[in-house]
Order: sequence, then C-alpha cells, then structure tokens
Amino acid sequence: MKKRVTSTDAVHAGEAKPRAFDAVPQPVAMTSTYTFEDSAEIVAFTTGTHPRQREEYGRYGNPTSRSVEERMAALEGTEDAVLFSSGMAAVTTAILALTKSGDHVVLFGECYRMTRQFIEVTLPRFGVTASLVKDFDASAIQKETKLVIGEMPTNPHLRCVDLAKLAETCKGKRGLKTMIDATFATPINLRPASHGIDLVVHSATKYLGGHHDVLGGVVCGTQSLCSLVRDLRSMLGNVADPHAAFLIGRGLKTLALRVEKQNATGLAIAKWLEGRPELERVFYPGLSSHPDHEIATRQMTGFGGVVSFIVKGGLEGARRVVDRMQIARIAPSFGGVDTLVEQPAVMSFYEMTPEERRDKVGIADGLVRLGVGIEEPEDLIADLERALA
Ligand code: PLP
Repeated sequence: MKKRVTSTDAVHAGEAKPRAFDAVPQPVAMTSTYTFEDSAEIVAFTTGTHPRQREEYGRYGNPTSRSVEERMAALEGTEDAVLFSSGMAAVTTAILALTKSGDHVVLFGECYRMTRQFIEVTLPRFGVTASLVKDFDASAIQKETKLVIGEMPTNPHLRCVDLAKLAETCKGKRGLKTMIDATFATPINLRPASHGIDLVVHSATKYLGGHHDVLGGVVCGTQSLCSLVRDLRSMLGNVADPHAAFLIGRGLKTLALRVEKQNATGLAIAKWLEGRPELERVFYPGLSSHPDHEIATRQMTGFGGVVSFIVKGGLEGARRVVDRMQIARIAPSFGGVDTLVEQPAVMSFYEMTPEERRDKVGIADGLVRLGVGIEEPEDLIADLERALA
C-alpha cells in the first residue's frame, strides 16, 4: 500500500520523449493560441480524428502544463491531473465541478482558512450547503451529500485521518466522492488515491514548486472526474500561465530530494523541540506523542517539513521566538527551499477574536508554525536554540 515515490519517478514519470526542439527539459510553450495547417485539420481536431495530441487555445490547454499534469498523475498514481493558477483555483474549481444547487458537502477536521471560508460563505450562495465537522464520521453524511473534503496532514496541527476507512465509508453512497488536500504531504509521503480517495488536490505553491517563486495548484483523479474539472477550468479561465507551469515542472524534478531532506530535518527538529522547557507542546506526526502518530506511520512514508509548537507566554512568547530567528524568514507559506516561520494567531487567523481562535479553530496564541527548507538541520536547530534562549 505504501509505495514509495522516488527521485527517478519525480524526474521522469509521465514525461513524453522525445521533446520539442530535442531539448532536455520540457520547453516553455509561451503561446496563447495554436495554429492549424488548414480547415481540414481544424475539423479533424474538433471531431476527435486528429492523429496526434495537440492544443487549440491557451485557456483549454498548453503542452508545458500538460507535461506537468502527466507527471503529477504518474506521481499520484491517478489516471489524470489538471493544473491551475493557484491551489485555491484547484480547490474551488474541483468543488464547483462536483456539486450543484441542492447538494451538500462535508468538510472535516481543521483546514486551510480560505477553503473553509469558500465552503462556509460562498458555496451557500449557489445553493450548496455544508457541514463543518471536527472529526469525520458517517453520521455527517446526508442524503444530499456529494462531496466529503479533508486535508492530510492538516494545518497547523498536522492531524491525519485513516483514508482507507474514510474511502470505505463513502464508497457506493449515491455518487458521493471524497477529496483530500494533500499539500502538506506531497506524493512523496502520501498517495491518497492508493487508499481509495477519488480526488487529490495540492497547492503547487508549496512543495511541488518548492522555491517560493510560483503559484499553482493541481487536481488529480480519474479521467472522468478530471474531465469535469478541466471543462470548468476552460470556462473559469483559471489556468496556469505557461511559465508558471514550467517552474512547477522544474520544481517537481527535485521534489523527492527536497522532501526526503525536509522529512529528516522536520523529524530531527521536532525531536529536539520536544525536550525544550520553553515550550508547552510540539505537533509533528512523526513523534509518538502526536495523537495521529499510528495512522500517519501506517499510511505515510515520511512526515513532512512542517513542525508546529506552542511557546510558553502566549502571543508575546511566540512573537519573541519568531522575531529572533535569523535563518527562518517570517512569511505565510512552507514547503520551499527556504525555511519559513509564522505565528498563526497573528497571520493566518488574524481576523478572529482570541475566543474564536481558541474555541472555533483551536489555535493557541503561543503557536508557531515552522516550515523547514533544505538548510542543514543543525543550523536550523542552532537558530531555534538562539531564538528560544
Ligand atoms: N491548501 C492548503 C493546505 C494550503 O496550505 C493552501 C495555502 O496555503 C492552499 C490550499 C491554497 O493554495 P494557494 O495559496 O496556492 O492558492
């Protein structure tokens, strides 16, 4: 079940050979439209009798994006994948493609703030209702439920769920589909489709791109589900720019290298932090103290590069640590080559009152989220030691 995705896969999987212009990397097809030899070729294309795969117009497809989609599908072990201009474009388009007025969705566990907001505030405007539940159980599913949505691991407490059990519970229920945002895991650490999940989404802005220089998103799944998602993307127009697709494709080449290092560094830092008297608690699924350690160990081949911890002294205690770090930069992202740090209470959850933060989403004032990069673990530990002292 836990097939490991390797660097050989990350470099070559799903890639067509030979390449245009005999180039080694996939060239950037920087074009908004595609030319046809004559009218007969257009007719062959539109009637599906054209002898080769080709594109028609930039909003419908692009060879550079297509090569990223093929590699992502190969890495996730799905039939197809659809690339987007951002992670939120991927999440929202997938949800809109699979629901209609009168339907119901279940969102379980903690999740990315904007996904929650889209489901809670925007979807009801189109007649799609939602239940936001803390933990998934079958009783959350109603007659009208069409989609069960979760993240794994979650942000920022890195909670994990038994995906096989989730898929089994939802299987065969009147077209009910499951969707997992696996941004924090990447296919190097977790392949949700191999556990029976229908749709896997990623913010490619994080580990997949990997260098904090590009926004992107991807939806992976069966051909029929991806085709629904792709058709809506063609209408909404939230396609990845060809240059962004190139950067994501280049990032994917080193995905396994980077994530394997980030897994090792994340674990080393989490273990080191766990012994520190300045902290109340450390959250990392690779620690036996994490509530989902057993599930994570069973389903994942690595635990990722995000470590969260609660500093004693609340907002002020966390602020002091974050501000004193020198290698880690303060920024709201993770998964790239540079280590980034943030204090969720004043960044991702700033719009909530302290009571809402505590009671609704369980964010402690002293919480710090560290997204490790590819720097040496001993340097990052020294940085933390200095900041905590
Ligand atoms: N999903 C998760 C788990 C995220 O953390 C994020 C962004 O932080 C998104 C989706 C949205 O991705 P993007 O910022 O690329 O739109």
